[in-house]
Amino acid sequence: MKKHIPLATPHMSEEGYEVKFINDAFEKNWIAPLGENVDGFENDIKEFVGVEAATATVSGTAAIHLALKLAGIEQGDKVFCQTFTFAGSSNPIHYVNAEPVFIDSDLETWNMDPKALEEAFEKYPDTKAVLLVHLYGLNADTDKIKEITDRYGAILIEDAAESLGTLYKGKHSGTTGKYGILSFNGNKIITTSGGGMLISNDKEDIAKAKFWATQAREPFLHYEHEEVGYNYRLSNISAGIGRGQMKVLKKRIEQKTHIFNFYKEHLSDLKEIEMMPVNEWNVPNFWLSSILVKSDKVNASDVIEALKEENIESRPLWKPMHMQPVHKGLEFFGTGNSEYLFENGLCLPSDTKLTDIDLNRVVQIIRGLFK
Ligand SMILES: *Cc1c(COP(=O)(O)O)cnc(C)c1O
Repeated sequence: MKKHIPLATPHMSEEGYEVKFINDAFEKNWIAPLGENVDGFENDIKEFVGVEAATATVSGTAAIHLALKLAGIEQGDKVFCQTFTFAGSSNPIHYVNAEPVFIDSDLETWNMDPKALEEAFEKYPDTKAVLLVHLYGLNADTDKIKEITDRYGAILIEDAAESLGTLYKGKHSGTTGKYGILSFNGNKIITTSGGGMLISNDKEDIAKAKFWATQAREPFLHYEHEEVGYNYRLSNISAGIGRGQMKVLKKRIEQKTHIFNFYKEHLSDLKEIEMMPVNEWNVPNFWLSSILVKSDKVNASDVIEALKEENIESRPLWKPMHMQPVHKGLEFFGTGNSEYLFENGLCLPSDTKLTDIDLNRVVQIIRGLFK
């Protein structure tokens, strides 16, 4: 069997920072519930992306749920949600009994198409929230989306689960909207084994989210509850991993950038391959290097299959949410770019432990298909 090349796996620091923070929690017996590592991790993120407030959660999905609650979304409301994304973006819309209305992507950014969003607002001008996603580390053209969202008096939530460290016009991804969310799931650019973060410049709102995430426990010695809460806070152990991972985030971005540039250098002369779009206002974190296959003879699934035969993992781009059986009958605005991307694209191995020799194996297999 040839050496396995994975898509993306957790990559702890060579220096062992994560273990140090965890050991520290053990020594102080701060295993649970919260503690220094949680505060420290929240502070690290606040400083890194430049926001006033943050609360660490058990997952990115939980952070989106809290953001929707802060936006006042409830039963009967619609939320304009990017269709080209992972289910973790749209599932929380169902948790609050609201209805997702799916918005197409454009081919310039692969993320939300402002024209499709405008159309959706023309039909439903009272919609209260827009859920924008930044896929594969590429940033949406957030200012355009924000201008439309503001004009209709709606709240912008940015799902930056895949774009921690990405810069949009010099600003960190996820910090333009009212709320941003991050994920530290196992395959993300940094991981806490599982976790997320809700970020915002609104300190009061983040305090409210923290309260909901802690079972909505009122400040009494006995347990007093006036609202329904959730058990959504990140553990002190997981947060310790996060603090360690923050020390290597910049390095991981450099490694991901190298991977993308390697593929670009060795594949983009092929007329059948198009690299994912990097706009001049965008400095991506290059979480997953992705390509489109433009050929009558070989399609994206042929490439995935050919790589799999060589023990190399790749995967299709996200299947749009409006095409998912669970969303049958829900509304969609757009021209079908997201379907086109799904049918013709794939994510290439982007694991930060890969060497140039590994990357070259991937490149040679792909090139072989277009000879
Ligand atoms: C990973 C991911 C999420 C969910 O994050 P979890 O931490 O796994 O709950 C949401 N949206 C997108 C786009 C993601 O990639």
